[in-house]
Amino acid sequence: MSDFASARVAVVGAGPAGLYAVQSLVASAPGIRVDVFDRLPAPYGLVRYGVAPDNQKIKSVTRVLRTPFDDAARIRFFGNVRFGVDLLRADLVEHYDAVVYATGAQGERLLGVPGENLPGCHGAKAFVDWYSGHPDAADTTFALDAPHVAVVGAGNVALDVARMLVRTREELAATDVPDRVLDAFRQSRVTDVHLIARRGVAQAKFTVEELRAINQLADVDIVVRPDEVTLTREDEGLLESHRPLRSAVGMVREWARRPAPGKPRRIHFRFLRSPARLLGASRVEGVLLERNEPLADGRVRGTGQFETLPAGMVVRSVGYKALPLAGLPFDPIACVLRHRAGRLIQENGEHATGEYVAGWAKRGPSGIIGTNKSDAAETISSLLADFARRSSSPAKVGDPITRLLRARGVEYTDWASWLRLDAHEVQLGQAQGRPRVKTAALAEMLELCRASTHVVTESTP
Ligand code: NAP
Repeated sequence: MSDFASARVAVVGAGPAGLYAVQSLVASAPGIRVDVFDRLPAPYGLVRYGVAPDNQKIKSVTRVLRTPFDDAARIRFFGNVRFGVDLLRADLVEHYDAVVYATGAQGERLLGVPGENLPGCHGAKAFVDWYSGHPDAADTTFALDAPHVAVVGAGNVALDVARMLVRTREELAATDVPDRVLDAFRQSRVTDVHLIARRGVAQAKFTVEELRAINQLADVDIVVRPDEVTLTREDEGLLESHRPLRSAVGMVREWARRPAPGKPRRIHFRFLRSPARLLGASRVEGVLLERNEPLADGRVRGTGQFETLPAGMVVRSVGYKALPLAGLPFDPIACVLRHRAGRLIQENGEHATGEYVAGWAKRGPSGIIGTNKSDAAETISSLLADFARRSSSPAKVGDPITRLLRARGVEYTDWASWLRLDAHEVQLGQAQGRPRVKTAALAEMLELCRASTHVVTESTP
């Protein structure tokens, strides 16, 4: 382990998976040097750009994730560095003793139904990127001019999207969304969000905490049709052995029993319904839904009975997926990097020495932010075990990476730059009584990173 204490490790991706990996490395070998690369000038990945803006409590995990960067000499951040473009796999393998890829899931699944390409149908990722102020969506606009919106999918992302669409102006004004996003929500004409779940209530992926957040919305009725939340005998058995699921299903079934008080906006839960086609000539006007019937094994079968749901916007929220990464072994079926216990596995089945994977790129898009902690711990324990087995493990010497990036003309940012950007966003927020106001455009982010404001500590949400 003494060799490892002076090792140099690269982590690609500064989201929760990458930063929990850094924590795990530092905890195992306090003297270790780690360089963290991200394509954006801001760290925190899904915490900053995935956790919904109205969930600032979850975002406060940044207080934990940032701690390794206090040791600026050993733990460095390189923002605005694109893996596969500015920095190649070969560079990392050459200059580091080990590399951990934690690049998340940048793609998403499709519905695969006719009409999906009509204007007005959007992937949840684009919508989430937009309201989260992600640079990829800095030029995207969502008009929110349709009273009825269909959100397809029965997971927590679908619930996030639905909740954001029906929040009051005052509630949204307490979030960190960019100003132009806040303006779009202020002008929103959305009154009804229809959540479309293809299976039954007992098969939905919503978690009870997220359902509770829906329940607490100030100006929103929750509408559930009693005939769509009946349970099969098999469902009853499932609930008996699964307490969190029992609570979630109980909450939704309770909503079906209570009268709607008549608030100005509504979320309609629709179970056992699959979109068969998106309707509309030149843009989305509705969804043709097929009614499904449940099977004993939890799957469903179409009944051939259809109904039309009018909707001027459709958000597809049926799961993210990791995309292949420049030259790295990829499993196209599971849509993850090929690995065993976090060790990257080449096409020939052999371990790619010194290369590892963590987070959604490793296990697929599942779990909460905290799940990445144990996931990263498994990866780092594989890394440590491999290191201990190496007959000689000379640490790589020198610091060629900064030279290499400069030679390639890459304008990389560092932790101090992020602190400047962070302070700017928080300052803007304070002026409006908000936790922060996000800067979305990459050029503007870089400009703020360059600014010479003196900042000593990061602000917290
Ligand atoms: P998810 O939990 O996997 O949900 C995806 C949903 O899409 C499932 O209900 C799935 O139904 C449905 N679906 C898939 N293909 C479909 C199709 N062709 N037609 C209709 N429906 C389809 O994924 P997610 O909501 O994107 O969330 C990703 C992860 O992030 C999850 O682990 C989630 O819990 C987590 N997350 C957590 C929070 C939080 O804790 N606050 C917030 C957001 C996200 P089937 O089950 O039938 O396949």
